[in-house]
Amino acid sequence: MDAAPNCAICNAPAYPECPCEAERLQIAVKQAEQRIMEERLAVIRDWVINHARQHILNAFERLTSTRKQAHSAYLASLPNYEVYMRYSGHPPIHPMYVATLQTQIAEAHAELKRGIDADWRASVLRYPEVLDYFYGLVELRLPSDQSQSVVEPPFAAAGYADRGYTDPSRLSVEKKKKKRRDREGSLPPERHIALHRVMRGPPPVPTPPLQHGAYPRPPGPFPY
Ligand SMILES: [Zn+2]
Repeated sequence: MDAAPNCAICNAPAYPECPCEAERLQIAVKQAEQRIMEERLAVIRDWVINHARQHILNAFERLTSTRKQAHSAYLASLPNYEVYMRYSGHPPIHPMYVATLQTQIAEAHAELKRGIDADWRASVLRYPEVLDYFYGLVELRLPSDQSQSVVEPPFAAAGYADRGYTDPSRLSVEKKKKKRRDREGSLPPERHIALHRVMRGPPPVPTPPLQHGAYPRPPGPFPY
């Protein structure tokens, strides 16, 4: 006899394989990620954005403060600039000098503005690199496969009685089966195959009939 369990979702025979279990697993994984991971990702995202933004702003401040100092030094070096400022733009000098100076000041201000725009652009365009850097600082820690919380999750002790996707018309049958399992006090061997199927996909061909209890252990970390 072939003891591979029927599809847990639609109860179709194990072969040919129906896609229900794989599809439900994908959905369940998505939902678990939404429940458990999205909040964590939001915390990480905020942290990364804040640090990236602060870094970019600091870098921009450094660039522009250097540029503004150079700008001030240039203005101070212009002929008649000191007297021009002292008389608030109406110095007692020939208007020709004033006009020349005003042109130079206007050009310097325009140059400063272009420079600041360039600094800002250069800083902001580094966001992808800076975001990568700060995301890279986040440590992702997976527990050891031997750790107690992995080997023996708190809900493992109770085992898994059937309580999902049961067609109501089959309820009495399932209850009888469960009672029998409880009497036998162990997991039915079909569980091995089911676990193997959901987590790793079906075997490529139907397995030949096996003696009850003679299933090979599935590869991988399952402690059964
Ligand atoms: Zn199915």
